[in-house]
Amino acid sequence: MGKVLTIDEELCIGCGTCVEICPDVFELNETIEKAFVKNQEGCSQCDCEEAINSCPVGAISWVEE
Ligand code: SF4
Repeated sequence: MGKVLTIDEELCIGCGTCVEICPDVFELNETIEKAFVKNQEGCSQCDCEEAINSCPVGAISWVEE
């Protein structure tokens, strides 16, 4: 059992905050203006907690596999 970083696309407003905070992990799909997780293992600095806490709509979370 592990945890997977997940973005709820229904909630995401494409603000880019998560990408600014953790560009190793998040990327913005500019066509649909939604962020996605490009590399689960990419975070080397913030454990993505900062990105999770900074998302204005609470779209990022850890989901149990
Ligand atoms: Fe989407 Fe939240 Fe990332 Fe903004 S911070 S792009 S709303 S997931």
